[in-house]
Amino acid sequence: MSIKQNLSIIKSSFPENVTLVAVSKTKPISDLMEAYDAGQRIFGENKIQEMAEKWEQMPKDIQWHMIGHVQTNKVKFMAKFVSLIHGVDSLKLLEEINKQALKNNRLIDCLLQIHIAEEETKFGLNKKELNYILTSRGFQEMKNIRIIGLMGMATFTDNQNQIKKEFNSLKSIFDQFTNHNSQMTILSMGMSSDYQLAIESGSTMVRIGSSIFGER
Ligand SMILES: *Cc1c(COP(=O)(O)O)cnc(C)c1O
Repeated sequence: MSIKQNLSIIKSSFPENVTLVAVSKTKPISDLMEAYDAGQRIFGENKIQEMAEKWEQMPKDIQWHMIGHVQTNKVKFMAKFVSLIHGVDSLKLLEEINKQALKNNRLIDCLLQIHIAEEETKFGLNKKELNYILTSRGFQEMKNIRIIGLMGMATFTDNQNQIKKEFNSLKSIFDQFTNHNSQMTILSMGMSSDYQLAIESGSTMVRIGSSIFGER
């Protein structure tokens, strides 16, 4: 099936309030352009260098989302164009994003990544750390970033109950924090293998790669 057909099948399978991020990491520009020509305008990449190269070569009405783990020293390479950074998991990283956003005279939107999976390897904050960041003086003084929601990744497993449980725990944290913060509207969870479950659990933004562009 073509990229265009995949996109249309996926998009018709979920409600309109759910935003699709087409995860195009490792894929050539020709593949991204096929999605672009089918109307897709939001692309997700997990390497800053690769995203910057694609940004340079592609139409400028694309919104580029950084979905991977971000190293502080690389923020400067995306600060002038990135539209949303999903994987923010420290105050130090937020400080650097704020600094680079200021240099570029921009307001950069971020999601804080919450650790919901069992695996030790997945990045992210727990509820206490999230609360610490949001209530910290340092954060409140940052004028060039905005936290507009949360992001999480479930454990890589076939156990649907476990995935569901992890998504529900993220949704519950999201609900607790959005009660006090009207800027937080995005809940980024769900990938090719689990986006239906994620949407059932309240996801508003899914990051889908292989189901659109094929295996990497
Ligand atoms: C690669 C990646 C995805 C997309 O994964 P697929 O299984 O190809 O849909 C989603 N989120 C993150 C953070 C990723 O790194």
